[in-house]
Amino acid sequence: MPTCTKCDNKVTKVYDCDHTDFDEYCVECYTELHYYLTEKE
Ligand SMILES: [Zn+2]
Ligand SMILES: [Zn+2]
Repeated sequence: MPTCTKCDNKVTKVYDCDHTDFDEYCVECYTELHYYLTEKE
């Protein structure tokens, strides 16, 4: 099972993109990251 780089939780699915520096994030961390990115604009 993959592990989230940010919160160290084992999750069924991980997501990455240029914003995470292609580290693998769980859906919660990934959503939170993009939430803050959107808020900045
Ligand atoms: Zn996480
Ligand atoms: Zn992104």
